[in-house]
Amino acid sequence: MNLQSVRGTQDFLPEAQAKHNLVVDIARSVVGRFGFYEMATPIFEFSEVFKRTLGEASDIVSKEMYTFKDRNDEELTLRPEGTAGIARAFISEGLSQRTPLKVMYQGPMFRYERPQKGRYRQFHQLGIELLGPASGMADVECIAAGFMVLNELKIAESCSLEINSIGDEESRRNYIAALVKYLKGVQDQLSADSQKRLEQNPLRILDSKDEKDQALLKSAPLINEFYNEESKRSYAQIISALKAMSIPFNENPLLVRGLDYYSHCVFEFRTQQLGAQDAVLSGGRYDQLIKTMGGPATPGVGWAAGLERLSMLCPLEAKPARPVAILPIHESTEQEAFKLAYELRSKGLPCEVHFSGNMSKRMKKAVAQNCFAAVILGPDEIQKGEASVKFLDQGEQKSIRLTDLFSALRS
Ligand code: ATP
Ligand code: MG
Repeated sequence: MNLQSVRGTQDFLPEAQAKHNLVVDIARSVVGRFGFYEMATPIFEFSEVFKRTLGEASDIVSKEMYTFKDRNDEELTLRPEGTAGIARAFISEGLSQRTPLKVMYQGPMFRYERPQKGRYRQFHQLGIELLGPASGMADVECIAAGFMVLNELKIAESCSLEINSIGDEESRRNYIAALVKYLKGVQDQLSADSQKRLEQNPLRILDSKDEKDQALLKSAPLINEFYNEESKRSYAQIISALKAMSIPFNENPLLVRGLDYYSHCVFEFRTQQLGAQDAVLSGGRYDQLIKTMGGPATPGVGWAAGLERLSMLCPLEAKPARPVAILPIHESTEQEAFKLAYELRSKGLPCEVHFSGNMSKRMKKAVAQNCFAAVILGPDEIQKGEASVKFLDQGEQKSIRLTDLFSALRS
């Protein structure tokens, strides 16, 4: 049997999982203050849910999806991202009655990519979606919530917010025509990838990491020269509000997102600390998504953050509550020790009882487990209804009646 985890997947040992949970807890608490509440959708959906929404030409649909047929010949896909599933649920659960709808989700996502630091085939995202309002202030609320999450995780300072508007459909159509015209003129100097994109997904060329492409893009037309009045107005509203809230950003006319469903404002918090995996939290507005899926036309905006990347950047440490160790002096008091631990735990106190070892081994273990006290149980003490308690930080030891033990340890 091959005992390695599948390429691009990883085990989360307890310490890593504790850090992951800490990041999720902080993010959940921050977005909760903005009124976003957690919901969950299934980890797999009919493949159509992703194919129709993300776009056949997107990296995800064209080469990254885990698609399979189940035993009933249904074509299913492990979710590569969270928004399409939320949009599907929005329609099938009739959530259009509940707009403005603010939801958060988190959990595993699956993409067949080349694994490297910060890039996995099973990874985790936490995201928010705000469905209903077309107002640019909805975008501002989402960006502000994202910024506050990064702030409370202590990583905002090492991240920069890039923002752009890719305009409404009309502005984008005119821009793409101009961009394609320019790029066709220099077509043979483009990277192979970009030459392919010129046919399928020209906007994505702006995203190219190839140096030659980037040099050619320096003289390309820019989207902001093509905004119509409506696109101009809604973007200006967002920029003005971010300034008023003192949320720092760089306007980046080359920023686009890889998925078909975006329009108007797009944004990405980037870090310099994870090499090529620089996107930490990315999102934008997707006004056509729900309609494309067959639901009632409903504007939306949201973002998703990669939890592995957040965990790697976040300097905070998960601090589990310190336990109490119960140490039986003698085999005859072992059962008492487990029983006492059971009672204290039922009152809310974390307790450790070891399964073997002499007194000094058990005491060492208690220190290693960061216990704040050790309750030593001998036959004589139990007879007297007492235990001898050693407070490990102070080193002092005293006798405490078993009936007083909980309140003595709690304080
Ligand atoms: P990248 O440019 O790194 O491929 P992306 O544009 O594909 O990112 P999105 O689809 O916007 O990313 O996903 C949102 C976030 O999820 C990213 O900002 C990133 O933090 C994280 N993410 C995306 N793909 C992966 C992956 N394969 N492994 C780990 N995290 C990922
Ligand atoms: Mg990607």
